[in-house]
Amino acid sequence: MISECRSGGRGTHATLHNEDEIKRLGLTIGDTVVVSRAGDVIPQITKVLTELRTGREKMFAMPKRCPVDGSRVVKEGAIARCSNPRCGARNRELLYHFVSRAAFDIRGLGPKIIDRFLDEGLMTDAPDIFALPAGDIAALERFGEKSAENLVREIGGKKNITLPRFLYALGILHVGEETARVLARAIEKARRAHAPLDVLAWGEKLNAADLETLPDVGPVVSRSITGYFKERRNRDLLKKFDRAGITFISSAHEGKKLAGKIFVFTGGLSSLEREEAKERVRAHGGEVSESVSKKNSYVVAGGEPGSKLEQAKKLDVPIIDEEEFLKLIK
Ligand SMILES: [Zn+2]
Repeated sequence: MISECRSGGRGTHATLHNEDEIKRLGLTIGDTVVVSRAGDVIPQITKVLTELRTGREKMFAMPKRCPVDGSRVVKEGAIARCSNPRCGARNRELLYHFVSRAAFDIRGLGPKIIDRFLDEGLMTDAPDIFALPAGDIAALERFGEKSAENLVREIGGKKNITLPRFLYALGILHVGEETARVLARAIEKARRAHAPLDVLAWGEKLNAADLETLPDVGPVVSRSITGYFKERRNRDLLKKFDRAGITFISSAHEGKKLAGKIFVFTGGLSSLEREEAKERVRAHGGEVSESVSKKNSYVVAGGEPGSKLEQAKKLDVPIIDEEEFLKLIK
């Protein structure tokens, strides 16, 4: 859902409370709706504009399986909930692990904030982190626009990661930092690993005997790893990471200030030439791209920026000005 607000706010989420509320409103999928926000809370759908229907709307049906763990959904009055009492808890733990220092290292996204985002329905799994719109975060109570933007910018800057860190972040049982490094070397030996789909392709062909030839990988660890890739939910997760724009960077650049960051320039800079700016980025371990995509960390907008700026806004790529750029390359 995309909402544009008269007061200038923009978001993609609104609450609907429960199934009865959907029935009461007569809401179908594809409808145009009126959304309003009372105070500093998540916006609510208040009206369906039936006159704008095109005939392609679909009836809504409550899912029978939980989107988090695939357990059966049960109804208690108007509320539908997952039948697994442990549901959510394991997911939460996995997310805390995912953003931790040795994994994706997203400092602004601690357990408390993860809890809130889960509870407010802003995300359900780790790939969702990379699609959090600043507008939705800013709509949460005690979350200012500035801190929402900072968080989205920080997350955008973490999309490029080394393969060992990514594998560790997945939270595969028995795969600690060291085993993740061993696995990364095995994957890189077998194929060029650019993005999560390469990990998936490797994992799908995996057999336990090959794994057990790796240092420190015994039958228990090997079973855990092959088991991970056998589960459909995990394979879907890897595809979703790929769509979110996660890419792998060489460990050689790790530690450098702009390692893994991809920059796009648009418009003129006043204090240095474009070529010089690009060189400075590369010197700090970063990369420069000519076109805007979700994989970019920053679009640097100088004077009279071109269409790339509009694209960056559409794709939610963080936009910085010359001053902020200079701070990054200092
Ligand atoms: Zn569940």
